[in-house]
Amino acid sequence: MIKVKEVKIYHIGMRLKAPFQTSLGTVEERESLIIEVIDQDGVSGWGEVVAFSTPWYTEETIKTAYHILKAFLIPVILKKEIVHPRHVHSMFNHVKRNQMAKAGIELAIWDLFSKKEHRSLSRILGGTRSKIEAGVVISIASIPNMLAEIEKRLAEGYKRFKVKINPAIDYELIKEIRVHFPELPLMADANSAYTLKDLSKLQRLDDFQLMMIEQPLRADDIVEHRLLQENLQTPICLDESIASFHDAFSAIQLKSCQIINIKAGRIGGLWEAKKVHDLCQQHDIQIWCGGMLETGISRAHNIALASLPHFTIPGDISSSSRYWEEDIIVPLVEVKDGTVNVPTGAGIGFEVNRRRLRSVAKHIESVTC
Ligand SMILES: [Mg+2]
Repeated sequence: MIKVKEVKIYHIGMRLKAPFQTSLGTVEERESLIIEVIDQDGVSGWGEVVAFSTPWYTEETIKTAYHILKAFLIPVILKKEIVHPRHVHSMFNHVKRNQMAKAGIELAIWDLFSKKEHRSLSRILGGTRSKIEAGVVISIASIPNMLAEIEKRLAEGYKRFKVKINPAIDYELIKEIRVHFPELPLMADANSAYTLKDLSKLQRLDDFQLMMIEQPLRADDIVEHRLLQENLQTPICLDESIASFHDAFSAIQLKSCQIINIKAGRIGGLWEAKKVHDLCQQHDIQIWCGGMLETGISRAHNIALASLPHFTIPGDISSSSRYWEEDIIVPLVEVKDGTVNVPTGAGIGFEVNRRRLRSVAKHIESVTC
């Protein structure tokens, strides 16, 4: 039984080593909310709200998440005893959506619970792997710069490469990559930059044996993706469209995708993520664990999640040094020969570097019973 006595919100800002560009915007400084829950025994658990500063990816932002946490979610957590972290998501049933805010606190409670059980979060969730394979995202840049970046990351051993595409830069880019790297495990993420009117443009990408095309159409669509998938050889992977377990169920029933990118933040926490994992396993839908340009805390949760048996495609799980001069966890997440070790220590298996956390904090707030 967990009784949370205090919740701390650290509103932080960390400058990315290099600006990260997608079809919908450029991120230079990554704002984030780090959540620390402290129980009656003084044990801390850590989570992260992966919303961005602007609502370009989902409708949530750092500010909306802060409000939802303070006004609605944290009071529930402080009021009620928690038997098991798998109950946390349903304790928030009176709050519609706001999945990233919900996940931030749910993740922290999983870490706390696993620490109190003296077991790794991976094993508590049902993880079976001791190592996971790492993939990397190549930011939009000039084609020669992107080719050079792929070369560099290939030398580092990454197992899967993702490029961001949009209608202005797709065919030529992928073609050029294929000329230089014909066998590269390559996928393309459109972040909803296309419509069904672009069908013939998307069909041209069938020439390149992409592992998948991620979220080509509207962020809230499931039906049009089905119409697209019927006319496309390349498997469709859904990301933004899957905001809940129910969305995953709908997409599978409608055959709107062959692959789902699971992000605990986007679907409201680790328990929902595990349920989607199990559903996809039953229906033979492939899955992988997506990234959100997050700090080491969320990355550590992703490693635990990706250790579940049905995560068969390498996830967006790169080294801490890929984005940060200095991460807020120790040890750092390190990719060696394209794999990351799943930690065996209690909880997320990484310590929070409190000095570094305070140095990047814009504001720290403590909420108590
Ligand atoms: Mg995506």
